Amino acid sequence: MKEALVFDKVYFSYDGEEVLKDVSFVVNEGEIITVVGPNGGGKTTLLKLILGFLKPDFGKIYVFGRNPQEAKGLIGYLPQFSSVDRSIPITAFEFVKLSLYPGVFKGYSMDINDRVSYVLKIVDAYNIKDKPIFELSGGQFQRILLARAIVNDPPILLLDEPTNFIDENSKKNFYEIIMSFKGAKTILIVSHDLNMVSKFTDRLFCLNREIFISCKIGDLGKNLDIIYSNLFSYVNHRHGE
Ligand code: ADP
Repeated sequence: MKEALVFDKVYFSYDGEEVLKDVSFVVNEGEIITVVGPNGGGKTTLLKLILGFLKPDFGKIYVFGRNPQEAKGLIGYLPQFSSVDRSIPITAFEFVKLSLYPGVFKGYSMDINDRVSYVLKIVDAYNIKDKPIFELSGGQFQRILLARAIVNDPPILLLDEPTNFIDENSKKNFYEIIMSFKGAKTILIVSHDLNMVSKFTDRLFCLNREIFISCKIGDLGKNLDIIYSNLFSYVNHRHGE
């Protein structure tokens, strides 16, 4: 089995504030991992390190054996809803098309517009393709963000709280789409929705600056008390010291 993601004793800090400490794990190709942890526990920072947006202070990160900076084309990223600027006056179709790397589908018979249409159909958003992105509901926009993350057909998907701000029905539809990728893509998903994600997650990482639990999803019940006590624990910020 191929190793898709490797963290080897990774440390990271922002301006002297240690956010990740001695983080080590291996994610095999095709696995689905859910990352849970309290706010400020370092989950988004972990994703940004995998994406190569940040560099570790110590330790090594490998994405299919490469440095993150050399692996950008291998990763599709769905950022937190609130971090995306929706005021740009473009349609859903154009928004997805903007993320397509020219040349990726050179060898394919599909042209670029067909690829975007195909992906919009996968995420059940073809009917809203001509709407400006600022007019979309939360659930619709999340599906467009997912389309953008998969448009280059990357083997790895990183999803940062993809179902925050959406209603229960849209959540269910969204997770059904993710489930359809099971086995075909390696997925790391940050979510508090343990009920939903436990249906398709293989393993759970609990991150509160360190990974304090890494377990198979079947062992969730055994670890629930310690997970919940950490989820709502106070994260010690050193700001203002
Ligand atoms: P989570 O995703 O688990 O909520 P983050 O990775 O976003 O956690 O943040 C971890 C810690 O790092 C928090 O204390 C946050 O305030 C701090 N942090 C995040 N981004 C920055 C930044 N760009 N500069 C300084 N501190 C940051």
